Amino acid sequence: MSRYAVCAAIQQPDPEKEHQRIVFLSSCYDFPFDTTRALEFALFRPARFTRYVVPRALRLRGALGGLLSPRRHPRLRTEMRRPSYPERYVMGKWGRRNLVDGKPTRFDFVLLLLMHHMRNFKRGALAKVGLVAIGVLLHGLLFAQEEQGSAKLLAVWAGMLPVILSAPHGGREPVPGVPVRRGIGVPQFTTERDSNTAELAQAIGRALGDRLDAKPFLIVARFERKYVDANRPHAAAYESAAAKPYYEAYHRALEDAAERVRQHWMGGLLLDIHGQGAEADTIFLGTDNGRSVSALQQKFGNEALTGPKSIVGQLALKGYKVIPNGAGEAREQRYTGGYTTRTYGSHRGTQIDAIQLEIGSNLRARENLDRMAIDLADSIAVFARQYLLAVR
Ligand SMILES: [Zn+2]
Repeated sequence: MSRYAVCAAIQQPDPEKEHQRIVFLSSCYDFPFDTTRALEFALFRPARFTRYVVPRALRLRGALGGLLSPRRHPRLRTEMRRPSYPERYVMGKWGRRNLVDGKPTRFDFVLLLLMHHMRNFKRGALAKVGLVAIGVLLHGLLFAQEEQGSAKLLAVWAGMLPVILSAPHGGREPVPGVPVRRGIGVPQFTTERDSNTAELAQAIGRALGDRLDAKPFLIVARFERKYVDANRPHAAAYESAAAKPYYEAYHRALEDAAERVRQHWMGGLLLDIHGQGAEADTIFLGTDNGRSVSALQQKFGNEALTGPKSIVGQLALKGYKVIPNGAGEAREQRYTGGYTTRTYGSHRGTQIDAIQLEIGSNLRARENLDRMAIDLADSIAVFARQYLLAVR
């Protein structure tokens, strides 16, 4: 998406009702560099702190906006020109105690900043810096709290495409304080990981971002399936109260992505990425035999599902065995989709067409993962250009 397209997109929404959207567009697409630096500045993780954030923070891009622009503050400009400045700053009186051991705290940074500006600026500027520093400190603390919670075991991207990728079964991490599920009385109980599907979903997301110049939404469980199964209804998904927030965070992220796609594109595609070992070189599609893609079917007919510009059609062109593929085995038998496709699919009036992809074990083996991701991204991109992004 070009910057002018972003600018146009920012001008459209109603500032009163859609301020969040405007901030999102502005921070993720108009000023992504500045926002990233500002967030790093606010969150400053210790490892990056001395190496990266301190020197950058001196330039104070983004976080402090124009308040401290070198143009308006000639002394800052002079400071910035000195190549040795960051080192001196780190090794200074305040830095020596706290930074050299590699464990700075947020307070250290804010104090450093304040000390610096007390020496350099007039009182008015100091007040501004103080306010910004307090804001940064609060922001950092709030984010830190959020990161410590259930969101820590998820990878979530906010997208700029009407495409959502999810992967509930590829996680490798234990959930703190949660025992392994036992599955007593749970139908179709399994704790098996869909190996490499978390990595695959993210690789597809990156490749799709390259092809369409905008990233998809992505929700990947980093928690392992044996603790929480995100592709099951509540009762079958987890067994202890401590696990519930992780399950709920996953579905909140999915709902949020679906809601944004509805709001901004009137509908879109959800691909739920899984792995199967029954047929190692096959990709099975699960849509509850068309129910979860009923909106797509109604709008464009079977062509959008199995035609040359469908995902199935594109994968077949690349030589993959896909079942069902519109010919031969027309019905889904072994894999018909799961909780996610049944909950978020368009047969529920969600405007989101949901497809479960069960990728064979050979296709998602380490050595084939990149190829699979690129081929899937290519196929999704062709489909998206034809059916999701075209001006109608
Ligand atoms: Zn699975």
